Amino acid sequence: MIKYKHVALIGLGLIASSIALAIKRKNSNVIITGTSRSKKTRILAKELKICQVFDNIRDTVKNADLVILCVPVGAMSAVSKELKNNLKKGSTITDVGSVKKRVISQINPFLPDDIFFIPGHPLAGTEESGPQAGISDLFEGRWCILTPDNTVPKSEVKKLESFWVSLGSMVRYMTPDHHDLVLAVTSHAPHLIAYTMVGVADDFSKISNSEVINYSAAGFRDFTRIAASDPTMWRDVFLNNKEASLEILGRFNEELFALQSAIRNGDGDFLYEYFKRTRKIRRSIIDAGQDTKEINFGRYQKKSSNL
Ligand code: NAP
Repeated sequence: MIKYKHVALIGLGLIASSIALAIKRKNSNVIITGTSRSKKTRILAKELKICQVFDNIRDTVKNADLVILCVPVGAMSAVSKELKNNLKKGSTITDVGSVKKRVISQINPFLPDDIFFIPGHPLAGTEESGPQAGISDLFEGRWCILTPDNTVPKSEVKKLESFWVSLGSMVRYMTPDHHDLVLAVTSHAPHLIAYTMVGVADDFSKISNSEVINYSAAGFRDFTRIAASDPTMWRDVFLNNKEASLEILGRFNEELFALQSAIRNGDGDFLYEYFKRTRKIRRSIIDAGQDTKEINFGRYQKKSSNL
């Protein structure tokens, strides 16, 4: 059961609209308000009946028990500035940003003492953006990571945990630093590699673009899907998770050199053992229920229709 009476969404894109649809699917009594920077998105969200849409942050958060910041990581500071003096005493504020350490330092200075700030990150999404991309069961069976500090009362943290559980998520706690390192490995670096591979195919003049499109193998198609992700979101992720991303990309380069030299030297044993090890990782992801064996590797699988 959702324990917040009024949830306010700042930003009305894929994640915010998915939260609104998931709340409605679970509990129609919760008041959901939201706002977005542009009139175009606000109109669209209104047409799609995502939530009660307001023109400004002040009216959106008025009386809200839970405020969720659903804007790109680089915009968290600007929206938090506008929250100041408008939050209800004793309310909780959280975010869904893909980076934690920098986001926390951007939000914290603007929050009054009588507010509970519990940073969060649902590990669920697609390459689509905007309110029309919302999916009511996006969070079902997916992890949500919370990174509260120890000044927030346990009861408030548990309340937010139960909110995400109500939307279908499983919750884990991490420090912001550890979150950023884990996500650099599992999400940020893979996105950069996909962007690079699609960029290489686009630049490579010995084969034509139509050959790339017509003869793309499943692996390349998956790269193109990832590389179609929102440019603003991913620009902000790399600018704000610089250290961990660079550390993982450094390790990636070392491994790539080792594989390159095995290919050059005809070291089949090295290649075979390497690929055998990586195949195990794929199997453990499937065993953990975080993907299926179906061919649409890593793609969001629609489980039910949206509201
Ligand atoms: P989205 O669909 O592109 O929506 C972004 C929202 O933020 C829109 O309402 C947009 O407003 C607003 N916005 C953009 N730039 C802004 C700015 N400079 N100032 C104020 N508002 C701004 O994005 P999303 O996929 O929902 O992502 C939102 C957050 O969720 C990001 O922090 C991202 O890191 C995190 N996240 C994303 C995923 C994913 O797979 N997409 C997964 C987990 C977490 P307008 O449309 O009105 O311009």
